Amino acid sequence: MDARLEAIRDTVLARNPGEAEFHQAVVEVFESLGPVHDRHPEFLEAAILERLCEPERQIIFRVPWTDDQGRVQINRGFRVEFNSALGPYKGGLRFHPSVYLGIVKFLGFEQIFKNALTGMPIGGGKGGSDFDPRGRSDAEVMRFCQSFMTELYRHIGEYTDVPAGDIGVGGREIGYLFGQYKRITNRYESGVLTGKGISWGGSLVRPEATGFGTVIFTEEMLKTRGTSFDGQRVVVSGSGNVAINAVAKAQSLGATVVACSDSSGYIVDEAGIDVGLLRQVKEVERGRLKDYALRRSGVAYVEAGSVWDVDATVALPCATQNELDGDAAARLVRNGLIAIGEGANMPSTREAVAVFQEAGVLFGPGKAANAGGVATSALEMQQNASRDSWSFEHTEQRLTDIMVGIHHRCASTADEYGEPGNYVLGANIGGFVKVADAMLAQGLI
Ligand code: NDP
Repeated sequence: MDARLEAIRDTVLARNPGEAEFHQAVVEVFESLGPVHDRHPEFLEAAILERLCEPERQIIFRVPWTDDQGRVQINRGFRVEFNSALGPYKGGLRFHPSVYLGIVKFLGFEQIFKNALTGMPIGGGKGGSDFDPRGRSDAEVMRFCQSFMTELYRHIGEYTDVPAGDIGVGGREIGYLFGQYKRITNRYESGVLTGKGISWGGSLVRPEATGFGTVIFTEEMLKTRGTSFDGQRVVVSGSGNVAINAVAKAQSLGATVVACSDSSGYIVDEAGIDVGLLRQVKEVERGRLKDYALRRSGVAYVEAGSVWDVDATVALPCATQNELDGDAAARLVRNGLIAIGEGANMPSTREAVAVFQEAGVLFGPGKAANAGGVATSALEMQQNASRDSWSFEHTEQRLTDIMVGIHHRCASTADEYGEPGNYVLGANIGGFVKVADAMLAQGLI
């Protein structure tokens, strides 16, 4: 790392103790930014990096609710409004028992650069709760969401901060959150949340956008080596929103997706995953992958081990952070991997990224590869602002154009800085310079 940035990194790490994931995200970005500061000493003088690492606002609140037995439950809610240089804070809400400030801050920090890369007018933020929706009834999820919004509503708005979904927050949760926001404020403010239902202000393609976008970005990377998804053997991790839509898109481009996972195990389906059955089990029934294996012949369900034990030419990690470590990366490379597109945020550990880069594997980092979700959220905001709703085909074409544009921005920035094919460097520098320029222009705030 550039020596000038080391001192800033040390201060950031010391000021934010115990936030391992936030530290990891900050260090990964800092490692790319030395050359930028050679060209732009004004960024150092204006303390852009120090300011970027300090969220503009952090809100932590109590979320009390009652379960179906009438017992009082208490969870913790978070919203970190990280940076508004380019537009209103924008980023999802995560409901998962592992959520704490360090996870929300890593996600919010990455979101700043991701949103900048989309070219849309959106700043970076993230939020969530340690609430676990798994195993809860719809009524419990509704009561939790209503209590969560009873505090959150005063901090958000279509020109201020626009949350969306993430792990554990899908269409059902966005519906309950929107209903409570409307009730408290007496405003039908469509642009305050994205990921809404299609009949009440949502955008077509938003549910598919992150998974589709990840595959489109990865296809662009493959093209640089004269190949494509057609005929590839693909492994996907996760079986939630991002994973399912990545499976669907990869197979529509001629790949065979042979495996995917949940937090209990993984399935291997050599014939190619049946997307209809996967959607039925995971989205409609909210069941487990084990149920998929029970209903389709020739499918193996594996509880021990890791989905990365399955060999593939293309890997799409779409579950959660640090799910793919150095050993798994080495195994994938030995087994013939040529490309990896991160649908999840920071799914590869630092060791894994090093293994992929040293082996010359095409590596699309999450902040570029999975930006299609937030970009389509911005398209949803655009439709809400103009009281319009676009067709599936039109919206999908916009998404495709945006992902091709992000790929181009990353690749050309990597070329410009003398590291062709280094998408990590391209994404970090491409996103950073845009935000830094805007921060400089807006003065010391
Ligand atoms: P979902 O809740 O729909 O699905 C998450 C999937 O990942 C589930 O299969 C879940 O398994 C698995 N998973 C979650 N946590 C763990 C864990 N700790 N260990 C193992 N498996 C786990 O979430 P999304 O699909 O929306 O999000 C997946 C990833 O994509 C996240 O990293 C998210 O930040 C990122 N992302 C999402 C966007 C979106 O638009 N939704 C946008 C950009 C990025 P189980 O069901 O067993 O819990």
